[in-house]
Amino acid sequence: MMNQIYRDFPENISELVLIFNQNSIFTHVFEPNGTQLFVQPDAFLGRHVSEFLPPEIIEEMNESLEEVRNNQSFCEAEFSRIQNGKEEWYHCKLGLFSVENGSPEHFAAMIRNCTKEHETILSLEKKKKMLYAIASASQELLDNKRLEDALLFGLKEIGSSINADHVYIYENSIDFESGIPRCTRTLEWAPIGASNAMDFGEKTTYRMDEIPEIIVPLMDNHPLNVYTREIPESPIKTILEARGVRSLLILPIYTNDVFWGFIGFDDFHDERTWTEAEIALLQSFAVSVANAMIRQTIEIESAEARHLAERSSRSKLEFIANMSHELRTPLNGVLGFAQLLDQSDLTPEQQLFSAELMKSAGQLLNLIDDMVDYTHFNSSDVFLNKDRVKVGDLVDELSAFFTQLNTESNRFVLHVSDEVPSVFISDHEALSRILMQLLSNANKFTKDGTVELIIDWIDGFMYFGVRDSGIGIDDFEIPLIGTPFYQVDSSVTKKYPGTGVGLSIVKQLLTAMKSDLHIESKLGDGSLFFFFLPVIVETDESE
Ligand code: ADP
Repeated sequence: MMNQIYRDFPENISELVLIFNQNSIFTHVFEPNGTQLFVQPDAFLGRHVSEFLPPEIIEEMNESLEEVRNNQSFCEAEFSRIQNGKEEWYHCKLGLFSVENGSPEHFAAMIRNCTKEHETILSLEKKKKMLYAIASASQELLDNKRLEDALLFGLKEIGSSINADHVYIYENSIDFESGIPRCTRTLEWAPIGASNAMDFGEKTTYRMDEIPEIIVPLMDNHPLNVYTREIPESPIKTILEARGVRSLLILPIYTNDVFWGFIGFDDFHDERTWTEAEIALLQSFAVSVANAMIRQTIEIESAEARHLAERSSRSKLEFIANMSHELRTPLNGVLGFAQLLDQSDLTPEQQLFSAELMKSAGQLLNLIDDMVDYTHFNSSDVFLNKDRVKVGDLVDELSAFFTQLNTESNRFVLHVSDEVPSVFISDHEALSRILMQLLSNANKFTKDGTVELIIDWIDGFMYFGVRDSGIGIDDFEIPLIGTPFYQVDSSVTKKYPGTGVGLSIVKQLLTAMKSDLHIESKLGDGSLFFFFLPVIVETDESE
C-alpha cells in the first residue's frame, strides 16, 4: 500500500506530506529529502494531529476539514511555533486523500517551513510602515507652521512605526559661561509605559566633551548604531545602562553644513541592528528636520526684515509729511507776498518780474505736491473708498476744473453716452484725480485744439477717455509713458513744464482700482488716454 502512495506523489515534491485519517491520527508520512520540521517525521505516525498543532488553530483546522470534505477542495493555513527560542512559521495545505479504493476517507497535509518568506514579508511591511510614517512626518513639517508641534508629531509617527522605546531630538549650542559646546534635549517621545524612563520630560543637557562616544561620529556626519554593552566604559554608558537602553541609533542633523543637533532612537528590548536601507530612510527625515529649521530661520529673518522695512517706510512717510509741511509753509508765504506785490503799484517791468515769481513759486508748489503724492503711493498701500459716484457731479467737477486751466486756446468737448449708469460705486476722489491729471496733460500738450472727455458704458465696464489734438507721442515712446519721472522731452530747455510723475500716480491708482491705462497716439496728431473701470452699478431708479 505504501508503494502505491509513493507512486501517486510527484517525485520532486519538496514539502513534507502527512496523511491522517478521519480520527485525526497520522497514518503515513511522506518525507522528501532535506525537509526539516519541528519533529522527526516518524514521530507523527499513530499520533493525534492536536499533539503537534498550537491549540488556537485546532478549532480552525476542524472547520477547514469540514469545508475540504464538503467541497472536495483544498484549504491553506499558516501557523507558528516557538522552537529553540525562535519563532518558526509553517505553511500547511489540506486536501482529501484516497489511500486505497474503498478505504475510509483520509486527509493529506502538505507542510513546509516558511519562516524566511514570512520574515521577508514582515520586513517589507515594516519598511512600508516606516516609509509612510516618514512621508507623513515630513509632510507635517512642510504644512504645520508650528514647528514644535510638527516635530513632535514626526517623532511619534516614526517612533511608533519602528517600535522605538524612546525617540528624541537634541539641539547644539554653546555654553555662554564656559564657551564649551553642549547639546540639549528639546523634544522627545516614548510609547505609553516606556515614558517613565529616567529623566523623561526633562531638558537634559550634556557638554559635548563629556560624551565623545556619541558626538565624535556625529561630528563627522556619520550615523551611530551601537549596542550599549559595546560602548567603552564611560559616564554615558552608565547612564544608558541605568535607563535600560540596549541599543541606539543616532543620526546627525546638519543645517547648511553646520552640526545643528541630532535625532536618536533607543531600544529598551533588543540589541537592534538597523539595515542600511532603514538608516537611509531615517536620515531622510533628519534632512527634512534640517530643512524645516532652515526655513524657520529664513522666516524669522524675513519677518524681521519686513518689520524693519515697514518701520523705515513709516518713518519715510513721516519724514515726507513733515518736510512737505516745512516746504509748503514758506512757499505759500512767498506766493502770498508775490500776489500782494503784484497788486501793488508796480512798473510794467516789475509786474513782469512778479508774474514770473508767482509762476515759479506755483510750479515749485506743484512739484512738491507731486513728489509727496508719488512717494506716498509708492511706499504704502492705496486704500480705496466705496463712494456712490454720481456721473452728473463728476462731469460738473471736471468741466469746472478744465475751465480753471489756462484754456483760452483749447476747446473742451464732453461726450457722455446714454448707456452710462447715473450712479456707480467707486472711489470718487481717486477717479476725479485720474481724470484731472489726464485733462491737464491733454490741455498742456495741446495748442489751439480740442480736448475731449468721453464717458461710456462698454461690456459692463465704465469707459473713460481723454482725447486731445495736441503734439502726440512717437510709437516707441508710448510704452515708456507713465514710468516714474519719464518725459518725452526731459531737457532743461523743455517746452512743457512738469515732473514726469503725474501719469505714474495715475497708473498706481488704476492698478489699485483693478484697471489699467491705455494710450493711442500719433506724433503730431494728438493722443487718446483711456481706461475701463470695473464698478458696481447702483440700481436705485430714483437716482
Ligand atoms: P509731466 O506731464 O509732469 O511731465 P506726466 O507723468 O503727466 O508728467 O507725463 C509724462 C510724460 O508723458 C510727459 O512729460 C509727456 O512727455 C507725455 N505725455 C503725457 N500726456 C501727454 C499728452 N496728452 N500728449 C503728449 N504727451 C503726453
